[in-house]
Amino acid sequence: MTVANLNDPHNPAPLTPEELYPAPVKTVEAGSPAERAGVRPGDFLLRVNGAAVTDVLAYRHALSLGKATLEMARPIAAPQVMTGVPGTAQDHHRLFMPQEPGLGETFSFDVEWEDPGLDFEEVLFDGIKKCANKCDFCYVHQMPRGFRKSLYIMDDDYRLSFLYGSFVTLTNLTEGDINRILDENLSPLYVSVHTANQELRQDLMRWWKLKVKDPQAVQIRGMIERLESIDLYTQIVLVPGRNDREHLDDTVEYLSSRPNVLSAAVVPIGLTSHRTNLPDVRTFTREDAQDSLKRLNIWRKKFLNERGTRFIFPSDELYLLAGEPLPSEEEYEGFPMLENGVGMIRDFLTGGMDAELPAALPQPKRVILATGALFAESLDLAVEPLRAIEGLTLEVRAVENKTFGKVTTVAGLLTGRCFRHAVKPGEADLLLVPPTTLRYGTELMLDDTSLTELRKEFKMDVQAGGATLGELARVILNAATSSGHQWGMSAHAVKDSGKADSVQIQVAEQGMRGQA
Ligand code: SF4
Repeated sequence: MTVANLNDPHNPAPLTPEELYPAPVKTVEAGSPAERAGVRPGDFLLRVNGAAVTDVLAYRHALSLGKATLEMARPIAAPQVMTGVPGTAQDHHRLFMPQEPGLGETFSFDVEWEDPGLDFEEVLFDGIKKCANKCDFCYVHQMPRGFRKSLYIMDDDYRLSFLYGSFVTLTNLTEGDINRILDENLSPLYVSVHTANQELRQDLMRWWKLKVKDPQAVQIRGMIERLESIDLYTQIVLVPGRNDREHLDDTVEYLSSRPNVLSAAVVPIGLTSHRTNLPDVRTFTREDAQDSLKRLNIWRKKFLNERGTRFIFPSDELYLLAGEPLPSEEEYEGFPMLENGVGMIRDFLTGGMDAELPAALPQPKRVILATGALFAESLDLAVEPLRAIEGLTLEVRAVENKTFGKVTTVAGLLTGRCFRHAVKPGEADLLLVPPTTLRYGTELMLDDTSLTELRKEFKMDVQAGGATLGELARVILNAATSSGHQWGMSAHAVKDSGKADSVQIQVAEQGMRGQA
């Protein structure tokens, strides 16, 4: 490992503003090459092997080539703006304009087939790629005002798709992006297809009027075919009377003909009461859902016989709307689309209670299990075994969505405001809210209400419930048998704590995960 001072006048490396995406270092691993080189949290990565680095993927790719020189900088003043949202790199950028005096200390160090030991504040150093669409079903356009800004970011970034499984439309890809996806084998990607009919897709997503200069270049069929070496998980958001019925059959037929398409999730449109400047769309009815399921079941049977996979996976919401039973655990084939609202309820129900339930609680406890209207009935049936515990009074409460409107019935979009309308102070000992209502790794809801605030206001313990029935039972029993508050965030909620809000809302809008 060598450490060099880049302020050395003999060092020719110019600091070109256009090329710099300074990436703030979050942590430095103890004993790592970076630590030995004197790198500290708050320093910035400027380049690797003389080239600007746009994101962690490019960083890892550069390291994977063997020998790497990392150019670092230490700002004179501590960075002032550090939001946790990908896409805010401009703020760091200003600090490093070379014409500005006080660039600070710059230095470099070398590694060879070694992890430098750096972790960054953000995964995207050059900012998030925004979406070029205005979909009829976009949740961002249907959000009430007043939430934190990060929730209104309309991202459509293939890098987040690869890193976190968020869905992208591919309508904003440049030639450079396509080549990079292929060269770096960014596989799998998650693609919102909606329909294989190009004109209909443009109509649904309305992007031809917006920022896409050459619609021909981003035709969905052409794009899927160009990305033939990349595995694609796809989704179809069904808009009644638009891309369902025969159009749905055509889309499924096309997707199934492409070897790189691994599966297609089918989700009904989600509406809120805040649809401004968007066309009128009616809600997905029971009859719509039944028609879609009937068609999809024919395809599923055919694909299972012919290729050993059902290929098409209708979302939980589609089954609930149609009033039809959920598929068995086996039919979800390992739950590859769990976070897209496909199989969450089955996963919740089959995540068994491995511990024996006690016959009675030491003290009687009243527990409210809050969820969205869509899942309340199923949850009520599912928790029936817990009601055998003497002293436990368990009520499943369907909470109306006061923020997005009554039409929004999924649990993931409930906010503090909704719970305040649904629960009276002191009416229970414990309130369990669905884990999906919380931002990943935090106890904050979409409207920034925290569980701590609710505990104070409701004068009761408030915790995140479980992502499975077994987990839910454990949270209830832990809380009921101990004094004081216990933080019961679900394992599912914790594991993705690095995700951005924009990714979270994509999950939340589709999800009925956990309680559910
Ligand atoms: S749904 Fe997604 S792709 Fe469509 S407008 Fe909204 S953010 Fe963009």
